Amino acid sequence: MIYLDYAANHPVDPAVLERFCAVERSFPGNPNSRHTMGRAACGEMERITDSVAELLGVDPKSVIFTSGATEANNLAIKGIARSTRHCGRHIISTPVEHASASASVTWLQEQGYEVDLLPLGRDGRVDLEELEYLLRKDTVLVTVPAVDSELGTVQPVAEIRKLVSRFPNCHLHVDATQAIGRIPFDFSPADTVSFAPHKFGGLNGCGVLVKRKDLVIEPQLHGGESTTIYRSGTPALALAASVEAALRPAVEQMEARTAHVTALRRKLQQGLEKYPNVRINSPSGAVPHILNLSIKGVKGGTMQQVLDERGICVSVKSACSVEGTPSRAVFAVSRDRNNARSSWRISLSHLTTEQEIEEFLRQFDACYQELTGEQV
Ligand code: PLP
Repeated sequence: MIYLDYAANHPVDPAVLERFCAVERSFPGNPNSRHTMGRAACGEMERITDSVAELLGVDPKSVIFTSGATEANNLAIKGIARSTRHCGRHIISTPVEHASASASVTWLQEQGYEVDLLPLGRDGRVDLEELEYLLRKDTVLVTVPAVDSELGTVQPVAEIRKLVSRFPNCHLHVDATQAIGRIPFDFSPADTVSFAPHKFGGLNGCGVLVKRKDLVIEPQLHGGESTTIYRSGTPALALAASVEAALRPAVEQMEARTAHVTALRRKLQQGLEKYPNVRINSPSGAVPHILNLSIKGVKGGTMQQVLDERGICVSVKSACSVEGTPSRAVFAVSRDRNNARSSWRISLSHLTTEQEIEEFLRQFDACYQELTGEQV
């Protein structure tokens, strides 16, 4: 099998698994308990939180551990909207959100919020002039992905912040799930930032919301104070430890990993651009690990299936999106419904090898001939 779907889920780093097991064994106490074993677990939780904060370059008080990026997006988007409901009920979002962010916004729309979606330029970036035009006194939230999961476009978060800052009631939420651990990321322009370590070698079932420490949002889980009022319940110490264990190599080895992935991406894209019916949908400034493309006249789902039969895993839209509909993100940049229906995604990691890319290109060539009847 050749796995080329690392943006959906990254295999866990064995050292992360070991750390998870070691912490589970060593700290049986509940970090909320006052006895010796509880205090030991609580101390370890504090040490891990400090270390995660240091790796991210944020204040430890701003780190909230969650069950994943989905929960972090729900907490930030609904939590901000609910805590600012007396200031207004207008939200600005984008057509390139992950389902966990777009569905949270839709839920708020059903509760009476007014929602505007920013158009994208051909380069996949949100239209800043349109943002300036849409922002108003009752706008309470702008939510954008740092990097969208389908095209890999890097959004201009710092420029968005400048515009948002003119409106004191407005907050900026950034879904950085495809950015953290992959590209350098500055937390300072955002009020809240979500991510999940299973995208870079961590475990499933955990995520992080970084919330500006003086920002008060409405908790979405009710059940008493824990290490934070935003996450009631027994803190998942070993999962928090696994976040730290995945984050450290991702941050410390980012440059070398990016160089490796960039070289593979170049080889892959050059190989694919030879085909006349191939259209690369990812913009030129996209992150190196995500490549979205279409073959004219061939549905993305068909391509996924024929590649799967040949032992290659790629993805159509993001794993959590609705099946059978054209990609909203690809349509937003190409404005071509057929192209959006034909789109699919290859995503790479530092674990991807040159041999895998070569084998993929051989298999792709056979599929292309089979489905288009053309030889290149
Ligand atoms: N946001 C983005 C951009 C994603 O790519 C994903 C995962 O696919 C999520 C959020 C949801 O993450 P999780 O599966 O950790 O809830």
